[in-house]
Amino acid sequence: MYTFIYKAADVPSVQRLLEHDKAALIVAQYGHARCVTHIRRGLEGLRREVLAQANGPVRFSADAFLEKVNERLAADAQSSLRPVINATGIPIHTNLGRVPLAAEAIAAINAVAAYTTLEYDLETGERGTREGRLTDLLTELTGAEAALVVNNNAAAVVLALNTLARDRDVVVSRGELAEIGGSFRIADIIARSGARLVEVGATNKTRLQDYAAAIDEDVTVLLRVHPSNYRIEGFTEQVTREELSQLAREKDIVAIEDLGSGALIDLAQFGLPAEPTVRDVLASGMDVITFSGDKLLGGPQAGIIVGKTALVEPMRANPLYRALRPDKLSIAALEATLRLYHDPDRLPERLPLLRMMTTPLEVLRERAARLRWSLPAALRARVATQDDVGYTGGGALPRQAVATVVLAIDPVSMSIDTAAKTLRENTPPVIARRAKGRLLLDFRTIAPSELQTLSDALRRLLTAASR
Ligand SMILES: *Cc1c(COP(=O)(O)O)cnc(C)c1O
Repeated sequence: MYTFIYKAADVPSVQRLLEHDKAALIVAQYGHARCVTHIRRGLEGLRREVLAQANGPVRFSADAFLEKVNERLAADAQSSLRPVINATGIPIHTNLGRVPLAAEAIAAINAVAAYTTLEYDLETGERGTREGRLTDLLTELTGAEAALVVNNNAAAVVLALNTLARDRDVVVSRGELAEIGGSFRIADIIARSGARLVEVGATNKTRLQDYAAAIDEDVTVLLRVHPSNYRIEGFTEQVTREELSQLAREKDIVAIEDLGSGALIDLAQFGLPAEPTVRDVLASGMDVITFSGDKLLGGPQAGIIVGKTALVEPMRANPLYRALRPDKLSIAALEATLRLYHDPDRLPERLPLLRMMTTPLEVLRERAARLRWSLPAALRARVATQDDVGYTGGGALPRQAVATVVLAIDPVSMSIDTAAKTLRENTPPVIARRAKGRLLLDFRTIAPSELQTLSDALRRLLTAASR
């Protein structure tokens, strides 16, 4: 039922709309205040439309108006963080929340969401230490003397340098002064930590002599940074960890490494490319190492600092630690994830990241075929399963191609952009990969439990693309 509105004064009042049957339902669901706000907003738009009208009156239906209000409130009520299906094939995907957590870590988060013993010692009834068993687990797993956990690896680097090199000099190779991810520039991080950067060497070559020549009484730290997302190739030279830490010892200064991903165990045992483990890096003589909790480790966002007690404990005592420390949810999830490392044999089945990275190609091929055959024959013709290569992501194993299997979609009468957008609009959204004019669903990161949802999404997409 429509009415026609000729002048602004005839625009209905908020009160009149609230008396409508439909409004009662909306108020019951979203509350009076939110409902009034959105009705008022809609009416302002209507008023502007009436004032701007050149070609006669504006048609108005209270029913349609309130339906729109309802849609807006529903969209508004949706959490901004939504689960998605990662079909990009990149297991450590920073934009998609890095890595999925193990069931044990998720259970731990649930368990501590209420009151917990975060800083409470049940035995004495007095204040306890915040990180509890977490630091013990880390020292056991890495062989380090001491460990400390902060919010993320960027925070770990800031805290380490602020504690050990504030108002002093930090020497870094020019080949390692990169930008990692969206906003992590080593040079900026050093500046913000209150330390002064001293660059040595050239982009492609830095020799031990370059470091040695830069060391004077202002230098307290030699910093090595893992080239996470880039590689300098060709005519290159880099100082080894052994050489660097040896030099630091001789000069009585500190060798720190920002390891980025930080593997806790040897990944080669699962057939993956070898990365030096945190234990290896410590054994090579580095005094302090920082790395992420949500890259190769497969846990929650966290920055982990391990190293010599005399260097790590002052970081805990630094007032900045109070601003960078993790919350109870992260602590619980990290602790639960680390406990899984006590049984490395079962890690590939329990840690989702490792499960994805180690799934054999023939299993991926079988899943891709299963998804393809779940489609009606007419649609099936437009998807093909094929072998492909992908990357681990998250600055781990950079440029190391990983064999994978994809479903290549040819939407025929729809652009790749529109097809990708249609999949993103699915519930849950499906994030695909694009290559050479095709839309690819990469099975490296697709869980078997997601196949049915993907099948439905694909059927809808291809049906829409047939029209
Ligand atoms: C990823 C990365 C960082 C940033 O780690 P966050 O945990 O995301 O803060 C810093 N340094 C290196 C070398 C990295 O690879």
